[in-house]
Amino acid sequence: MNKILTLFAATILLFGCQNAENETRDTPNETLDKTENGSPDTPTFGIVIHGGAGTILKENMSDSVEMAYRQKLEEAIRAGHEILEKGGTAMEAVTKTINIMEDSPLFNAGKGAVFTHDETNELDASVMDGATLNAGAVAGVTKIKNPIDLAVAVMDDSPHVLLYGEGAQAFAMEQGFEMVDPSYFYTDNRFQSLKRIKDRERTQLDHDAKISHAVDPYSKDSKFGTVGCAALDKNGNLAAGTSTGGMTNKRWNRIGDAPIIGAGTYANNATCAVSSTGWGEYFIRAMVAHDISAIMQYTGASLEEAAREVIQKKVPELGGDGGIVAIDKNGNVSMEFNTAGMYRAHMNAAGDLNIGIYKEE
Ligand code: ASP
Repeated sequence: MNKILTLFAATILLFGCQNAENETRDTPNETLDKTENGSPDTPTFGIVIHGGAGTILKENMSDSVEMAYRQKLEEAIRAGHEILEKGGTAMEAVTKTINIMEDSPLFNAGKGAVFTHDETNELDASVMDGATLNAGAVAGVTKIKNPIDLAVAVMDDSPHVLLYGEGAQAFAMEQGFEMVDPSYFYTDNRFQSLKRIKDRERTQLDHDAKISHAVDPYSKDSKFGTVGCAALDKNGNLAAGTSTGGMTNKRWNRIGDAPIIGAGTYANNATCAVSSTGWGEYFIRAMVAHDISAIMQYTGASLEEAAREVIQKKVPELGGDGGIVAIDKNGNVSMEFNTAGMYRAHMNAAGDLNIGIYKEE
């Protein structure tokens, strides 16, 4: 019996070695990518961010506003890049980069969050660590200045993945988070957007006396500016994070894709890290961020192929729109979107910076 077992173990070992050899031979791209990004001795790293996708058209944008967006994107991505360059973790880079965008009124996250139907601001955020597949998220918080930091605390300091509303804020207080008065999130721009949408909704309702849920509750300009980041650090670890105020005029405590792990955010060291932006209902139904990772893992597709499949086919076929930013384990990046524009930026290990807003750039 012992002899049979020894023979069996030896056979498994032999096959295992052969498979390992085949695996090494079967992945020429990995070697190529590493060589492209620097010598195998110099570990590669990179970072990619978005500041929301939507009907962003050059003709609707003044030069000064466009400049303000480009400057803020650059400030944010440079901060994250510096962390990675100094050997910091992908998770540190993701959260610090997102903090800068959360603190800016330009983006629909933190300070610049959009208004709900009831004229409040309800914020959602999530993070995921590709090394451990740990994740944390918060939804519907109203007093947290930087929801992405609370998402990290949920991941690190609670046994849970997703906390909601008052409970999430009680946890934040226990963790010593600074709470802000909800008025901190008031910006006139966002408030005027809500008023415009509500006026339109009212006119439409008066006109054809339809029940309210038959009216598209989200006009074209209701979902700009969610922020997100995906990063690869020098240790080969991936992380992603997303933070948002959701969609203008949302009601009934609507929660979008941003705090849903697998929809708004996903990271896995075996594949890639992804942050989504767009019409959340569709991104939840298509499980966008996880689907990109799964296509790569199960079919061997590249990040570019997987992202194109999901963003240019699956999401629009359902009727949704939006985009993603993602980085894979070799530092390859995707900034795929099916809308007129997406605020976005990328920096590689060499420090090359690439910022875009509109489709044609
Ligand atoms: N995805 C976000 C949501 O549905 C909105 C956005 O990305 O602009 O809440």
